[in-house]
Amino acid sequence: MSTRTPLMAGNWKMNLNHLEAIAHVQKLAFALTDKDYEAVEVAVLPPFTDLRSVQTLVDGDKLKIKYGAQDLSAHDAGAYTGEISGSMLAKLKCAFVVIGHSERRQYHREDDALVNAKVKAAYRHELTPILCVGEGLEVRKAGNQVAHTLAQVDGALKDIPADQARGIVIAYEPVWAIGTGEVATLEDAQEVCGAIRGRLAELYGQEVADEVRIQYGGSVKSGNIAAIMAQPDVDGALVGGASLDAEEFVKIVRFGD
Ligand code: PEP
Repeated sequence: MSTRTPLMAGNWKMNLNHLEAIAHVQKLAFALTDKDYEAVEVAVLPPFTDLRSVQTLVDGDKLKIKYGAQDLSAHDAGAYTGEISGSMLAKLKCAFVVIGHSERRQYHREDDALVNAKVKAAYRHELTPILCVGEGLEVRKAGNQVAHTLAQVDGALKDIPADQARGIVIAYEPVWAIGTGEVATLEDAQEVCGAIRGRLAELYGQEVADEVRIQYGGSVKSGNIAAIMAQPDVDGALVGGASLDAEEFVKIVRFGD
Protein backbone atom coordinates (compact mmCIF):
# COMPACT_ATOMS: atom_id res chain seq x y z
CA MET A 1 0.00 0.00 0.00
CA SER A 2 1.43 3.29 -1.06
CA THR A 3 1.92 6.12 1.42
CA ARG A 4 1.97 8.71 -1.35
CA THR A 5 -0.71 11.38 -0.93
CA PRO A 6 -2.56 11.68 -4.25
CA LEU A 7 -2.35 15.04 -5.98
CA MET A 8 -5.47 16.14 -7.83
CA ALA A 9 -4.54 19.18 -9.92
CA GLY A 10 -6.71 21.27 -12.23
CA ASN A 11 -4.91 22.69 -15.28
CA TRP A 12 -7.15 25.54 -16.38
CA LYS A 13 -5.03 26.18 -19.47
CA MET A 14 -5.91 29.59 -21.05
CA ASN A 15 -9.33 29.83 -19.39
CA LEU A 16 -10.89 32.01 -16.65
CA ASN A 17 -9.94 35.65 -16.12
CA HIS A 18 -9.00 36.81 -12.62
CA LEU A 19 -12.61 37.53 -11.59
CA GLU A 20 -13.76 34.15 -12.86
CA ALA A 21 -10.79 32.58 -11.08
CA ILE A 22 -11.88 34.03 -7.74
CA ALA A 23 -15.45 32.78 -8.22
CA HIS A 24 -14.19 29.34 -9.23
CA VAL A 25 -11.81 28.93 -6.27
CA GLN A 26 -14.57 30.14 -3.93
CA LYS A 27 -16.86 27.40 -5.26
CA LEU A 28 -14.14 24.78 -4.72
CA ALA A 29 -13.41 26.09 -1.24
CA PHE A 30 -17.08 25.98 -0.32
CA ALA A 31 -17.46 22.37 -1.47
CA LEU A 32 -14.19 20.83 -0.25
CA THR A 33 -14.03 19.65 3.34
CA ASP A 34 -11.28 18.70 5.79
CA LYS A 35 -12.01 15.07 4.93
CA ASP A 36 -11.09 15.77 1.31
CA TYR A 37 -7.83 17.44 2.31
CA GLU A 38 -6.98 14.53 4.60
CA ALA A 39 -7.33 12.13 1.66
CA VAL A 40 -5.69 14.11 -1.13
CA GLU A 41 -3.80 17.26 -1.98
CA VAL A 42 -5.81 19.61 -4.22
CA ALA A 43 -4.26 22.20 -6.51
CA VAL A 44 -5.38 24.63 -9.19
CA LEU A 45 -3.10 25.78 -11.99
CA PRO A 46 -4.53 29.04 -13.33
CA PRO A 47 -3.12 31.38 -16.00
CA PHE A 48 -0.37 33.74 -14.75
CA THR A 49 -2.74 36.72 -14.69
CA ASP A 50 -4.96 34.99 -12.10
CA LEU A 51 -2.26 34.00 -9.64
CA ARG A 52 -2.24 37.17 -7.54
CA SER A 53 -6.03 37.00 -7.11
CA VAL A 54 -5.89 33.32 -6.20
CA GLN A 55 -3.09 34.01 -3.71
CA THR A 56 -5.08 36.79 -2.05
CA LEU A 57 -8.10 34.52 -1.67
CA VAL A 58 -6.14 31.50 -0.44
CA ASP A 59 -4.07 33.56 2.03
CA GLY A 60 -6.96 35.71 3.24
CA ASP A 61 -9.30 32.80 3.92
CA LYS A 62 -6.54 30.36 4.91
CA LEU A 63 -7.73 27.88 2.28
CA LYS A 64 -6.05 24.50 2.09
CA ILE A 65 -6.19 24.45 -1.68
CA LYS A 66 -2.77 24.82 -3.30
CA TYR A 67 -1.97 26.59 -6.54
CA GLY A 68 0.71 26.92 -9.12
CA ALA A 69 1.53 28.11 -12.62
CA GLN A 70 1.37 26.39 -15.98
CA ASP A 71 4.92 27.29 -17.07
CA LEU A 72 8.00 29.31 -16.07
CA SER A 73 11.08 30.73 -17.74
CA ALA A 74 14.36 28.84 -17.59
CA HIS A 75 15.94 32.20 -16.64
CA ASP A 76 15.69 33.98 -13.30
CA ALA A 77 15.55 37.61 -14.55
CA GLY A 78 16.58 39.81 -17.43
CA ALA A 79 15.77 40.68 -21.03
CA TYR A 80 13.28 37.89 -21.75
CA THR A 81 10.18 39.74 -22.92
CA GLY A 82 6.95 37.99 -22.06
CA GLU A 83 8.52 35.46 -19.71
CA ILE A 84 7.71 34.81 -16.04
CA SER A 85 10.46 33.68 -13.67
CA GLY A 86 10.48 31.12 -10.91
CA SER A 87 11.30 33.84 -8.38
CA MET A 88 8.13 35.73 -9.42
CA LEU A 89 6.06 32.57 -8.92
CA ALA A 90 7.71 31.86 -5.58
CA LYS A 91 6.93 35.44 -4.46
CA LEU A 92 3.25 34.66 -5.18
CA LYS A 93 3.64 31.55 -2.99
CA CYS A 94 3.00 29.13 -5.82
CA ALA A 95 3.56 25.56 -4.69
CA PHE A 96 3.69 23.97 -8.15
CA VAL A 97 4.68 24.73 -11.70
CA VAL A 98 3.75 22.65 -14.73
CA ILE A 99 6.74 21.99 -16.98
CA GLY A 100 6.79 20.42 -20.44
CA HIS A 101 3.05 20.20 -21.02
CA SER A 102 2.45 18.66 -24.44
CA GLU A 103 0.81 21.89 -25.62
CA ARG A 104 4.03 23.76 -24.89
CA ARG A 105 6.14 21.03 -26.48
CA GLN A 106 3.89 21.15 -29.56
CA TYR A 107 3.06 24.86 -29.98
CA HIS A 108 6.20 26.39 -28.50
CA ARG A 109 8.69 23.73 -29.62
CA GLU A 110 9.90 23.04 -26.09
CA ASP A 111 12.41 20.20 -26.17
CA ASP A 112 13.87 18.04 -23.43
CA ALA A 113 16.86 20.36 -22.94
CA LEU A 114 14.59 23.34 -22.29
CA VAL A 115 12.33 21.25 -20.07
CA ASN A 116 15.41 20.22 -18.08
CA ALA A 117 16.48 23.87 -17.74
CA LYS A 118 12.99 24.75 -16.51
CA VAL A 119 13.03 21.91 -13.96
CA LYS A 120 16.31 23.33 -12.62
CA ALA A 121 14.80 26.84 -12.54
CA ALA A 122 11.83 25.53 -10.55
CA TYR A 123 14.12 23.92 -7.98
CA ARG A 124 16.18 27.10 -7.66
CA HIS A 125 13.01 28.74 -6.32
CA GLU A 126 11.62 25.83 -4.31
CA LEU A 127 8.72 25.24 -6.65
CA THR A 128 7.56 21.66 -7.14
CA PRO A 129 7.64 20.77 -10.84
CA ILE A 130 4.71 18.89 -12.33
CA LEU A 131 6.69 17.40 -15.19
CA CYS A 132 4.50 16.34 -18.12
CA VAL A 133 5.56 13.46 -20.32
CA GLY A 134 3.75 11.23 -22.77
CA GLU A 135 3.61 10.00 -26.33
CA GLY A 136 1.68 11.14 -29.38
CA LEU A 137 -0.57 8.93 -31.46
CA GLU A 138 2.08 7.89 -34.00
CA VAL A 139 4.44 6.73 -31.26
CA ARG A 140 1.59 4.86 -29.55
CA LYS A 141 0.59 3.16 -32.80
CA ALA A 142 4.18 2.04 -33.31
CA GLY A 143 4.19 0.59 -29.77
CA ASN A 144 7.04 2.85 -28.62
CA GLN A 145 5.18 4.64 -25.82
CA VAL A 146 7.38 3.39 -22.98
CA ALA A 147 10.73 4.14 -24.66
CA HIS A 148 9.51 7.56 -25.81
CA THR A 149 8.18 8.57 -22.39
CA LEU A 150 11.23 7.31 -20.51
CA ALA A 151 13.49 9.29 -22.86
CA GLN A 152 11.50 12.41 -21.89
CA VAL A 153 11.93 11.53 -18.19
CA ASP A 154 15.70 11.05 -18.67
CA GLY A 155 15.98 14.35 -20.54
CA ALA A 156 14.01 16.32 -17.98
CA LEU A 157 15.92 14.90 -15.02
CA LYS A 158 19.45 15.28 -16.43
CA ASP A 159 21.78 16.40 -13.60
CA ILE A 160 18.89 16.61 -11.11
CA PRO A 161 20.12 15.12 -7.81
CA ALA A 162 18.13 12.56 -5.82
CA ASP A 163 17.19 14.96 -3.02
CA GLN A 164 15.43 17.17 -5.59
CA ALA A 165 14.03 14.35 -7.72
CA ARG A 166 12.26 12.79 -4.73
CA GLY A 167 9.90 15.79 -4.57
CA ILE A 168 8.97 15.95 -8.25
CA VAL A 169 5.51 15.16 -9.58
CA ILE A 170 5.43 13.45 -12.97
CA ALA A 171 2.25 13.59 -15.03
CA TYR A 172 1.93 10.87 -17.65
CA GLU A 173 -0.31 12.37 -20.30
CA PRO A 174 -0.66 10.45 -23.55
CA VAL A 175 -1.03 13.32 -26.01
CA TRP A 176 -3.76 11.53 -27.97
CA ALA A 177 -5.90 11.45 -24.79
CA ILE A 178 -5.67 15.17 -23.95
CA GLY A 179 -8.90 17.03 -24.56
CA THR A 180 -10.07 14.36 -26.98
CA GLY A 181 -12.42 12.33 -24.80
CA GLU A 182 -10.12 9.33 -25.50
CA VAL A 183 -8.94 7.87 -22.20
CA ALA A 184 -6.01 5.50 -22.10
CA THR A 185 -7.05 2.04 -20.96
CA LEU A 186 -6.18 1.24 -17.38
CA GLU A 187 -3.52 -1.16 -18.63
CA ASP A 188 -2.03 1.57 -20.86
CA ALA A 189 -1.90 4.04 -17.97
CA GLN A 190 -0.41 1.54 -15.53
CA GLU A 191 2.11 0.22 -18.08
CA VAL A 192 3.71 3.63 -18.59
CA CYS A 193 3.32 4.92 -15.01
CA GLY A 194 4.91 1.68 -13.76
CA ALA A 195 7.74 2.05 -16.28
CA ILE A 196 8.34 5.65 -15.12
CA ARG A 197 8.65 4.46 -11.52
CA GLY A 198 11.01 1.71 -12.67
CA ARG A 199 13.20 4.29 -14.41
CA LEU A 200 13.22 6.49 -11.29
CA ALA A 201 14.40 3.45 -9.32
CA GLU A 202 17.23 2.91 -11.83
CA LEU A 203 18.22 6.57 -11.66
CA TYR A 204 17.80 7.25 -7.94
CA GLY A 205 17.07 3.99 -6.12
CA GLN A 206 13.79 2.42 -5.03
CA GLU A 207 13.29 4.62 -1.97
CA VAL A 208 13.20 7.80 -4.07
CA ALA A 209 11.10 6.10 -6.77
CA ASP A 210 8.54 5.09 -4.15
CA GLU A 211 8.20 8.68 -2.97
CA VAL A 212 7.56 10.30 -6.35
CA ARG A 213 3.95 10.99 -7.25
CA ILE A 214 2.97 10.00 -10.76
CA GLN A 215 -0.26 11.44 -12.09
CA TYR A 216 -2.33 10.34 -15.04
CA GLY A 217 -3.75 13.02 -17.33
CA GLY A 218 -5.95 12.83 -20.39
CA SER A 219 -9.73 13.26 -20.46
CA VAL A 220 -10.10 12.48 -16.74
CA LYS A 221 -13.69 12.82 -15.54
CA SER A 222 -15.72 11.88 -12.46
CA GLY A 223 -16.89 8.78 -14.31
CA ASN A 224 -13.41 7.32 -14.94
CA ILE A 225 -11.29 8.63 -12.05
CA ALA A 226 -11.97 5.77 -9.62
CA ALA A 227 -10.66 3.12 -11.99
CA ILE A 228 -7.64 5.26 -12.88
CA MET A 229 -6.80 5.87 -9.21
CA ALA A 230 -7.00 2.13 -8.53
CA GLN A 231 -3.86 1.58 -10.61
CA PRO A 232 -0.88 0.92 -8.30
CA ASP A 233 1.47 3.46 -9.86
CA VAL A 234 -1.07 6.27 -10.36
CA ASP A 235 -0.97 8.83 -7.54
CA GLY A 236 -3.36 11.46 -8.77
CA ALA A 237 -4.62 13.22 -11.85
CA LEU A 238 -3.80 16.26 -13.93
CA VAL A 239 -7.22 17.39 -15.07
CA GLY A 240 -7.73 19.82 -17.93
CA GLY A 241 -11.21 20.48 -19.31
CA ALA A 242 -13.11 18.87 -16.44
CA SER A 243 -11.37 21.09 -13.86
CA LEU A 244 -13.22 24.14 -15.23
CA ASP A 245 -16.48 22.80 -13.83
CA ALA A 246 -16.20 23.18 -10.04
CA GLU A 247 -18.79 20.51 -9.24
CA GLU A 248 -17.16 18.02 -11.59
CA PHE A 249 -13.66 18.77 -10.26
CA VAL A 250 -14.83 18.21 -6.69
CA LYS A 251 -16.25 14.85 -7.75
CA ILE A 252 -12.90 13.97 -9.32
CA VAL A 253 -11.11 15.00 -6.11
CA ARG A 254 -13.41 12.48 -4.36
CA PHE A 255 -12.57 9.78 -6.90
CA GLY A 256 -16.00 10.08 -8.50
CA ASP A 257 -18.19 9.90 -5.36
C1 PEP B 1 -4.24 18.56 -19.53
O1 PEP B 1 -4.39 19.66 -20.03
O2 PEP B 1 -3.22 18.36 -18.89
C2 PEP B 1 -5.28 17.55 -19.71
C3 PEP B 1 -5.07 16.37 -19.23
O3 PEP B 1 -6.44 17.95 -20.37
P1 PEP B 1 -7.84 17.15 -20.45
O4 PEP B 1 -8.15 16.65 -19.06
O5 PEP B 1 -8.81 18.15 -20.96
O6 PEP B 1 -7.64 15.99 -21.39
